Amino acid sequence: MRNGKNSKMSYNETLVGAKTEVGQVPEVQINQANVEESVRDILINIGENPEREGLLKTPNRVARMFDELTAGYHMDAEKLINNAIFSVDYDEMVVVKDIEYYSLCEHHMLPFFGKAHVAYIPDGKVIGLSKIPRIVEMFARRLQIQEQMTSQIADFIKETLNATGVAVVLEGSHMCGMMRGVRSQNTKMTTRRMLGDFKHNKDLRQEFIEHIASNSLD
Ligand SMILES: [Zn+2]
Repeated sequence: MRNGKNSKMSYNETLVGAKTEVGQVPEVQINQANVEESVRDILINIGENPEREGLLKTPNRVARMFDELTAGYHMDAEKLINNAIFSVDYDEMVVVKDIEYYSLCEHHMLPFFGKAHVAYIPDGKVIGLSKIPRIVEMFARRLQIQEQMTSQIADFIKETLNATGVAVVLEGSHMCGMMRGVRSQNTKMTTRRMLGDFKHNKDLRQEFIEHIASNSLD
């Protein structure tokens, strides 16, 4: 029965298939019915009874949850930044810090979450303040690894604004480290990507890092 069931949708036809490259947006939207069925299968296979009252609606809830938590695959990057790029005569650092994000680790599909800090040096173009958190969200709402997410945010901003420098620091607490395995207490991970001016200019980098660190004083 399981083979028969699986045969109606091969792996490559699924939404987040192996063919999805970094930064590439799959065209197919989530197949809610199939996800529901898969969640039912998981419930059965961990020894649960999907017919009991508390679990009856769980497959449907989980499918809708995945639709939401992986919405970043379907966000239109062009639309997201549309009409929000402005020409300015300003070439100092722009910093947006303490952006809350929630993502799912691609190894366990468990949450990791924390704060993102973003800075860039404009070269004639800036982006609306509210768009930076939206960019972070677009990359967070996918199956991710923190290092990759950090790079994707930085590269996207660099490319979009043609900025002379971009710095991104992500702090993340990983549920897969906290709930399972050795249950490491030290599960907070910091990742960073420095591009252009931030990579080559130590003082600038330092200024940004100090700016983030001043968090604890507010
Ligand atoms: Zn994990």
